[in-house]
This record gives sequence, structure tokens and C-alpha cells, in this order.
Amino acid sequence: MSSGKKGRRLVFLGPPNSGKGTQAALLASHLGIPAISTGEMLRSAVEQGSDLGSKVESVMARGALVGDDLMADIVRERLARDDVKKGFILDGYPRTPAQAATLEQLLDSDLDAVVLIEAAEDVLIARALARGREDDKEEVVRERLRVYQEKTESLVAFYERQGLLHRIEGNQSIEEVQAEIGQSLGL
Ligand code: AMP
Repeated sequence: MSSGKKGRRLVFLGPPNSGKGTQAALLASHLGIPAISTGEMLRSAVEQGSDLGSKVESVMARGALVGDDLMADIVRERLARDDVKKGFILDGYPRTPAQAATLEQLLDSDLDAVVLIEAAEDVLIARALARGREDDKEEVVRERLRVYQEKTESLVAFYERQGLLHRIEGNQSIEEVQAEIGQSLGL
């Protein structure tokens, strides 16, 4: 994996509540690069009541995906900032084949690795309900999982074909998952 001038460019992929956000943040701070969570960017836009926030609020509340074009604008802008020059971790993007195509364009097909954190459906649902956030009502939890399976899961095969995929067992402690990621990426 490259760690040259442009730094490491990583994508974290996985179903909701797989722990990918936690792991992306841990690895990013270890590598000294930004973790870019599109979900967090959108949630903070909603909290701030910005134009973007009002556009995406109801879509997010029902567990659906924000449109690919709007997401492309958000990610294009974020990846144009200086702090990504030394590398970055994308958490929660791409989530559809169209988003993966946009990302290839934005990065000139120069991505180093995709980390997939997997866990069984019952584990994911139990975790979400235990966390009890407002958007974690069982109905929305199940919808988010269904949307992942319908729209995002095909990216696993897409990145596997490119030889970029690192499969990680997510049903372990945070420390164990972290260690497995480090080992898989050769860090
Ligand atoms: P997350 O925290 O990554 O689970 O994202 C929370 C919510 O934000 C998702 O359920 C979507 O409604 C929205 N979202 C985040 N990232 C994306 C994306 N790449 N494409 C579309 N919607 C997104």
C-alpha cells in the first residue's frame, strides 16, 4: 500500500452499527489523517439548521439515502481541502455504485484500500437498539440495514475485483477489531 506523498487513501465500508465509524476515527487518529464521515457532516448540517440540513433531514430520519448528486457536491468540496493531501479515511461514502464511480473520478482511481467491517444482522440490530439514539427506532434500524443490502452491498464485490478489499470480523471488541484492521493493512 502506498504511503507516498499523497498519503493513504482509505474507505471504510460496512452495514450500519458495524462499528466502522469508531474504527475509522481510531485509525485516522493513529495515522494522523482526517476521518471524513459523511453521516456526521450531514447530522451537523441538520443540527445547525443550514440549507443542506433542511434538505436532508427527513431523508435521514427515515433511514433512506441522500441523493447521489448532492453527496457528490459535498464530497468533492471536502476532498478539495488541504488537510486531505496527506491522506484520509472516508467513512460512509461511497454507498451506491454511482457514488463509487464519482469517487473514482475525484481520486483519479487512486484509492489504497477498502476496509469492510462485517457482522451478522442480529448483532447489528441488537447494537443499534442498545444505543438508543433517536434515529435508532427498530423500524428505522431495519430500514437502514435494508438500504445497505439493496444499495451498498454490491460495492463489496466491486472493490474485491479491484483487489482493494480487506474483510474484517466486526463482532469482536473494539480493540480486537482495531488490531485486525492494523494487521490486515500491514500497519
Ligand atoms: P451514517 O452515520 O454513515 O450511518 O449516515 C447517516 C445517514 O446519513 C444515512 O442513513 C443517510 O441518510 C445519510 N448518508 C450518509 N452518508 C451518505 C451517503 N454516502 N449517501 C447517501 N446518504 C448518506
